[in-house]
Amino acid sequence: ARLRALGTALDWPDAQKQAHLVRSWGIKQLLEIWNKAKGKERDIMLWGDEVEYLVVTYSKDDPKILLSLRQADILEALASDKALSEASCAPALPDGSNAQTSQPPPVFHPEFGRFMLEATPGKPWGIEFKALLEVEPNMKLRYGRPIRLILRCIAKAHMLANEYPITLTTFPTLGSPGVFTDPYYPVSGSKLRSQFVPDEIANPHIRFPTLAANIRSRRGRKVQVNVPVFRDEKTPWPWSDPTVNYDLHQWPEDDDVRNGAAPDNFIHMDAMAFGMGSCCLQITFQAKNLTEGRQMYDQLSPLGPILLALTAATPVYKGFLADTDVRWNQISRAVDDRTPGEMGEKPLENDRWRIPKSRYASNSTYISEDPRLRPEYFDPDLVTDENIKQQLLEGGMDDRLATHFAHLFIRDPIVIFSEDLNELDLNKTDHFENIQSTNWQHMRFKPPPADNSIGWRVEFRSMEIQITDFENAAFAVFIVLVTRVILSYNLNFYIPIKKVDENMETAHARDAVLTRKFFFRRNLFPTVRTSRSSASGSGSSTPTTTTATSRPPTPAGPVEDEYRPMSINEIINGTAYARASTFSPLDNNNPTEEDDDDDFPGLIPLVESYLDSVNVDVVTRCELATYLDLIRKRASGELWTAAKWIRHFVARHPEYQRDSVVGEGITKDLVAAVIQVGECEAAGERFKGLCGEVVPGLERLLGGFR
Ligand code: ADP
Ligand code: MG
Ligand code: MG
Ligand code: MG
Ligand code: MG
Ligand code: MG
Repeated sequence: ARLRALGTALDWPDAQKQAHLVRSWGIKQLLEIWNKAKGKERDIMLWGDEVEYLVVTYSKDDPKILLSLRQADILEALASDKALSEASCAPALPDGSNAQTSQPPPVFHPEFGRFMLEATPGKPWGIEFKALLEVEPNMKLRYGRPIRLILRCIAKAHMLANEYPITLTTFPTLGSPGVFTDPYYPVSGSKLRSQFVPDEIANPHIRFPTLAANIRSRRGRKVQVNVPVFRDEKTPWPWSDPTVNYDLHQWPEDDDVRNGAAPDNFIHMDAMAFGMGSCCLQITFQAKNLTEGRQMYDQLSPLGPILLALTAATPVYKGFLADTDVRWNQISRAVDDRTPGEMGEKPLENDRWRIPKSRYASNSTYISEDPRLRPEYFDPDLVTDENIKQQLLEGGMDDRLATHFAHLFIRDPIVIFSEDLNELDLNKTDHFENIQSTNWQHMRFKPPPADNSIGWRVEFRSMEIQITDFENAAFAVFIVLVTRVILSYNLNFYIPIKKVDENMETAHARDAVLTRKFFFRRNLFPTVRTSRSSASGSGSSTPTTTTATSRPPTPAGPVEDEYRPMSINEIINGTAYARASTFSPLDNNNPTEEDDDDDFPGLIPLVESYLDSVNVDVVTRCELATYLDLIRKRASGELWTAAKWIRHFVARHPEYQRDSVVGEGITKDLVAAVIQVGECEAAGERFKGLCGEVVPGLERLLGGFR
């Protein structure tokens, strides 16, 4: 996550000539850390969130709302403020003092977009239950109890009066004709060669423009980020993106649109900024050892698409309503560096393989040595570099983990600094990280750093950022609790990895959380089921902690019987709750007769029975219940996702013409509403009162929480 200070970044194809060297040094560094860290034991359970912000400029009298490109200045102001005081936004306590915090100040980081910031906690969180309540900057908890610094307020305090940090995933008019950045820059630059965004949209640190330019060069054309447009009553059909210019002749890549890059009925985008300019919520966990890390990685994998659909927040691109609700595939396409040969569009020439996915994609393999991991769950067509796998095996790594890394290492390094190629330094992991950190999968397995100072970690990466701190805290805490339940009850979420891919696609559908079903494992409990009816015992009763090894092995049935399509309501709340709920349009919340034996307990009931079984004081339990309630209601449809709320906001706006166009006026009011919600939250109102009245539909998004 730290940027190299200075260096000479190689252009493509010079970088490509060094790819083999970087990979081979990367593997040596990986083996070095593997041998140092594989026996690491008893690391404590720690976790940390990453919250990404857009910075916008807004003032009541200015008709325009813009992306502020002052990232560097804001980060510098934050970095030079050693105390990172929250005094500017937090009212004093009744006794006149300021709130104490158990956390060092948060850390702010640059991100790809020059209009973005990322914040991480000053030190990772523990899993003491009370500490979970510190994650949210909640005013109520300030009195008499340490809390986390208010990130948004700290950020705001280092901005201009008209700048605001907001947590929308995407800026609705990014790339629209006209002005959308402050300051204004004309399109187009030599790095992105976009016809919609200037090069200045990206962080100017040489890494970022080089990343974008080399991805484009490797591909042999610009990235092609096409999102289906939402067809409203008055949307002309077939629809062709009116912002595409077919008559540009500045760059060779201007031919892309003349060669069919912008098909009808899709919003067309052509630059990395359209994907990597989106904000997400990521959570990293430290495992106690390698085995537990591998288990967490595998077990959280099938949850990725579910949490993506639940956090859906991305219905607008480039000034148009999209027919999808989440950012994932757009980022995937925005950094897809595959050549036409690798994509299967042309015969393979210089490339080694057909590669079915972008380097930003859902995971393609499992890594645990869990005996419950059946061979059928793997992708038989996984592409791996056999040579690299062989080196890893010879270096002492087991087959399964070697396969994982040999899969990541099918990619070329994109950004290479010539200074790093002088000699191999085994006290670093830079070459390994070069490949690892540009494999943007929905889970990431993070080995310890070269100094072995921290443990094996697993990152959960699929969630969309939410509009409020309350929601972001709720999703972070939920995932933390789910990992506790997974480890305590030794839960088994395995389904074939290809089904996880399918679920990832499903999660893109408009309102997928309510209208779609996802493949999910019927029986999460460690015992091997022998017949379908054996699942009913696990119903919603308190789970047992019987482990697989304490029972005689049972012959496994067909893999297809182990999972079935489930609504998110069933997955999160359980079959019984889903049957009784009335909000979701999915009639199959109500399983048919033949499915009646197929009760699924639901993740929230499992979290609750886990909380019942451990010592949590009443106050903490009540606070945690507020978070679980938000998730429960999002899953049942009682509350809306941000995507649905934004669609609602647009649809009822007086300027909206039912033609899928989200113009400047709508954007300004939408972003103003989001700013207002943030201000209410910082003032401790948590959405009741004033805010709920002026921001339409807010109660449908957030409920009446406090
Ligand atoms: P990246 O961008 O590569 O995912 P970052 O450094 O931005 O990495 O964020 C990593 C997250 O991991 C942060 O939330 C941080 O608090 C957290 N973290 C750091 N050290 C640990 C640790 N030992 N265990 C768990 N989480 C950690
Ligand atoms: Mg980060
Ligand atoms: Mg990062
Ligand atoms: Mg980030
Ligand atoms: Mg991260
Ligand atoms: Mg129902």
